[in-house]
Amino acid sequence: MNKAFYLETFGCQMNVVDSEQIVALLSAIGYSQVDSAELADLVLLNTCSVRDKAERKVYGHLGRFKPIKDKRPELIIGVGGCVAQQEGEKMLEKVPYLDLVFGTHNIHCLPELVQQAEQGRQRGCETDFQDRDTRLNLFPERTVQETVTRFVTVMQGCDNFCSYCIVPHVRGREISRPSQDIIAEVQGLVAQGAREITLLGQNVNSYGMKDDEEVSFTQLLRHINAIDGLQRLRFATSHPKDMTDELIDCFGSLDKLCKHIHLPFQSGSDRILKLMNRGYTRDEYLGRVKRLKKVCPEIRLTTDVIVGFPGETEEDFQATLDLVEQVGYADAFTFLYSPRVETAAAKMVDDQSAVQKQQRFDRLLKLQQQTSATIWQADIDQVLSVLVEGESRQGEGQMFGRTNSNRVVNFSGRPDLTGHIVQIKINEVHRNSHLGEQV
Ligand code: SF4
Repeated sequence: MNKAFYLETFGCQMNVVDSEQIVALLSAIGYSQVDSAELADLVLLNTCSVRDKAERKVYGHLGRFKPIKDKRPELIIGVGGCVAQQEGEKMLEKVPYLDLVFGTHNIHCLPELVQQAEQGRQRGCETDFQDRDTRLNLFPERTVQETVTRFVTVMQGCDNFCSYCIVPHVRGREISRPSQDIIAEVQGLVAQGAREITLLGQNVNSYGMKDDEEVSFTQLLRHINAIDGLQRLRFATSHPKDMTDELIDCFGSLDKLCKHIHLPFQSGSDRILKLMNRGYTRDEYLGRVKRLKKVCPEIRLTTDVIVGFPGETEEDFQATLDLVEQVGYADAFTFLYSPRVETAAAKMVDDQSAVQKQQRFDRLLKLQQQTSATIWQADIDQVLSVLVEGESRQGEGQMFGRTNSNRVVNFSGRPDLTGHIVQIKINEVHRNSHLGEQV
């Protein structure tokens, strides 16, 4: 008999890729995916612990499944991802109706954990970190999807230990996948119909740096840029300290590399950057931005900023506002600092009031919204190349795609345009997308 699973994914694109692997592993043991927990034999949460109160939210979320389990005690409930890695066995103690927990290095254990639970054996928890060689062998097959844009993981983990960040604690040390595996995966995805690939890692710029035998990230980009049938190439996330001139120059020389980069700066103050352990100064960051704009004048930048880091003064915050104005980001993810367990910043003295932090956050948001509006308004009446990704949620006959600069565009069109690059004249600019017409 066919069994059904329901999966919810939180957090970054790395988790989205992990969820594709979860889907492939569960399909191999006879499960198919459904879109409601009510219909499922197995319910899984793939969690993220980067944001504030993440653990509490996961426990709250699990509570939604208890009434279903009360009605159907054979329902299996599991949690994976970063919160599972961080909490481990504690989750089984705190949630008596939870059956299994698997960490960021243990996705491959999922079929066995599920089968144990099916057979009514003990509840299972697998959160051991794996060694490098084991991890490199643990890139299981992903589900076949005929989608235009796909993500490919090039590395896992992080060695940077930014003082506020939980990632190195829950994803482990950095390892790079062999370049030939990455190239083969991209070729396979392009053969399945992918036209745009985003290379993923916590810090893609340090790809291959720990391995003398491996190519650099720049060389990897050149190999992938040469793959026939691929039309667009992106990567995320870049750490400014590892952004070499050679990599910046790729934005001028690789025809498929999109003219957009997400380059988190986090703070405009050298004092705070040092406390954050970011490994670059404000001037070094601005120097890289200057070179990017010189090599590729039409490039659009997006970023991450943290407001209210422990010890941040009004002067530090002004330096952040000033940097936002100087660079002119098309978009920014702005975060109010919140301490994460196990991190160095969690032990720092934080003497700002919540009100003060919120006021600074609001000021930054206002500035960024004005900047974004000005930058995106410049697209009005322009004809832009849009890679069509599929039918839009805006209504019947509406399609959507993305510009080279990663902006979503909705327009009227036929479904068979999916996978093609079309020319769209931009008529309206909305907060998160453009509206246009095919020309
Ligand atoms: S580079 Fe810093 S912020 Fe990014 S994942 Fe690594 S530790 Fe976290």
